[in-house]
Amino acid sequence: MTVTREGRICSFCGEPGGPGTDLPLVGGLGAQVCARCVDDFHEMLHDEDLMAAARSAFPWESMTDAELLATLPMIMASAEQNTAFAHEWVDLLRTRQVSWAEIGRALGVSRQAAWERFARKSGDKGATA
Ligand SMILES: [Zn+2]
Repeated sequence: MTVTREGRICSFCGEPGGPGTDLPLVGGLGAQVCARCVDDFHEMLHDEDLMAAARSAFPWESMTDAELLATLPMIMASAEQNTAFAHEWVDLLRTRQVSWAEIGRALGVSRQAAWERFARKSGDKGATA
């Protein structure tokens, strides 16, 4: 699986962004956040009423069923983006000749389990390395 920098979405609002778009994305550990969400969260962090509301309940607890259903595809897209990022990360490690045993150790699984999870999708046939 090859993940490009294009086609990324904001993990918080689901908007497509990144290079080649008008919506900058920054992120880490697979999560991406757009400039608008950064601005919204920044505003919230400096508003006592909004912070009190955020501390009292998760926002989705007051969402309607229709809102929850409309959000579900974005949650799945974000999850898929994170999974793709993990594959991209493992591909990078393999390009650097990091062994499946080391990758498995980092994940707390066997070399074979790491290979089964990541190699088949990336086309890496080096199960013994
Ligand atoms: Zn966003």
